Amino acid sequence: RKGVGELLEAVAILRERNVRCSVEVVGPAIGEDGGVSNEQLRRWRRVADCLGLSDRVQFTGPLRGAALEARWRRADCLVLPSHNEGMPYVVLEAGARRKAVIATQVGGIPDLLAPDRAREPLALLVRPCDPTELAGAMARLAGDARLREALADRLYEHVRRHYTIERQIRRLGEVYERIRPFTRTAGVSSRPLRRVDEMFCGTVLYPLHERLRGRSTRGELSVLQRLRRAERGDLESETRRRLRATLEHAERKTGYYRSLFARYGVDVRAKDIERELRKLPPLTKAEIRRHEAMMVDSDAPGGLIPYASGGTTGDTLKFSIDRIRQAQSIAARLAGQSWFGVRVGDRRGYLWGAPIESRGAGWRRMREALLNEIVLDAFDLSDEKMDEHLRRLARFRPRCLYAYPTAAARLAEYALRRKRRLCVSGLQLVVLTGEEVAEKQRDIVRRAFGCRVAAEYGSRETGTIAHECPYGRMHVFAPHAYVEVVRDGRPIGFGEVGEIVVTVLNTRAQPLIRYRIGDAGALEASACPCGSALPVMRVAGGKITGFIVLRDGRVAHGAVTSHMLRGEHGVIAYRTIQHDVNVFEVLLETDERFDSQAVQRIRRRYARVFGEDVRVDVRVVDRIAPDPSGKRRYVISHVAERMKSFRTVSPEAAQQPNVAPVDDVVTSRAHS
Ligand SMILES: [Zn+2]
Repeated sequence: RKGVGELLEAVAILRERNVRCSVEVVGPAIGEDGGVSNEQLRRWRRVADCLGLSDRVQFTGPLRGAALEARWRRADCLVLPSHNEGMPYVVLEAGARRKAVIATQVGGIPDLLAPDRAREPLALLVRPCDPTELAGAMARLAGDARLREALADRLYEHVRRHYTIERQIRRLGEVYERIRPFTRTAGVSSRPLRRVDEMFCGTVLYPLHERLRGRSTRGELSVLQRLRRAERGDLESETRRRLRATLEHAERKTGYYRSLFARYGVDVRAKDIERELRKLPPLTKAEIRRHEAMMVDSDAPGGLIPYASGGTTGDTLKFSIDRIRQAQSIAARLAGQSWFGVRVGDRRGYLWGAPIESRGAGWRRMREALLNEIVLDAFDLSDEKMDEHLRRLARFRPRCLYAYPTAAARLAEYALRRKRRLCVSGLQLVVLTGEEVAEKQRDIVRRAFGCRVAAEYGSRETGTIAHECPYGRMHVFAPHAYVEVVRDGRPIGFGEVGEIVVTVLNTRAQPLIRYRIGDAGALEASACPCGSALPVMRVAGGKITGFIVLRDGRVAHGAVTSHMLRGEHGVIAYRTIQHDVNVFEVLLETDERFDSQAVQRIRRRYARVFGEDVRVDVRVVDRIAPDPSGKRRYVISHVAERMKSFRTVSPEAAQQPNVAPVDDVVTSRAHS
């Protein structure tokens, strides 16, 4: 179908004409199950051998990531001799990389490469199944560097102008609207773009969205699904292989790890790579702050993506991630949800923190609608707003709801109290994350929503690390994260609670090796009845989240305060204390990089979110003492505490009309 046969014939013709060229055939693509059709590869190789082309043609097999990038870099042009195509992304990818293209006039290719408004050709187009014409085009490009450059530049401009992600999504939305009358959509709502056909979203829009953002989410997902079913021994050796590659990369590309490994005698080529890893001390946030620049590999494929944890953990950190880490995290989340029957493209709801800046809100709405997602603001959980949330949920009917446990429990409790059955038909799963999940929260959510509940574990720095399976065990995504539980830096036995340290695997931008994520937990020895080979962990203890109650009746999830500090340098710890509805005190523990101007910025952000008339005292203090319980609370609201004795209500009490509790304080651990 891809026309590899003609390509090989064309190369043979060029050899006869003494045209110098060498061809690398990349692919076939990795299948849905993560497997490759080796049969096909073998067939191609046989043909090349018969034609005597083994010196001119190489078959790389399927490639991803850096290996694929390297191929792109050294290529002069892309040849796509397909017999039929839809709209091949690979042409856009070539354009984005400023490479010339030779392609056949099939499917969507002429629309893509010869739009009538373009006066000059963007690529060389040939008839399909015609090796002679193909050879002619290849000879032309091989002999004319100027032409190659001109084509490449024009295609680059074209792609840049017409195929940015926003444009693509918007255009697809328009197309979809036009074809929608002909598609079967259950319960079509009167509002346009309310709900895109799930199949269309899962198979077309979502993959496209991820591809355009340069993320190989689908590939990562299929690898995860394959490895989950692998034999334990195979999974473990794959994990070790990835661990070694991660350490090797860190040593080669970052000054920080190079000198660290030298200091602790870590040999990345040693046989037992896990033992080498254990020589290193756990990595603290303070260490990351100190060595920021030395820890980063600015050549990471796809570039660096600046990130900040606004720490619902109570401190802030700036760091860099890359596309691999992004793709892994999304794939892990999708994999975990798929264990409960929720598929890519299914409708999803998020009860989550909305960004303070609402720039691009229109586009976001469009994207949400097209990707089958709605976002309910967890930073406003007033009765009025919760009524709206419940209405939107009932109308949108997500299959999966993703939420902070405190926020989900509050919404569930409210629904039960109002005797509003949360009849979100089709809801299969509520994922609780961002904080440690309390049993009673699970309970009330399960009761109100009438569906399964699963916890996800991770952090902004590390991405998604683990997810509960239908048997309630928390499985570590071992291909993405190497989790250890340590005491004094040394691993302890199965079942024993200690400090969780995480090595993020495969990422390039800023390696995190033995990173102290700030939680306690344990690794479990027992195999899980779900049959997954992924290791099992347990998260124990953590930090405390609360709500902030405002005069206008709004109740905001405590994570809102993290947005106000995100991106500020030198904040080691912080706490927001709400003394009265409009009196806030913000305590900051800082280091030398803290800029005193930040005090003003932080105060302004509080005012913007909580109202211009609030009083905000921002104070830098020597130390923020932990709670008597040993937990660190980053939000303390005396207002919330005063309201109605501030305790969890029993389900019976919850049904009494005159009880209006705010919510309980729960132990938590957060990644927002
Ligand atoms: Zn399991």
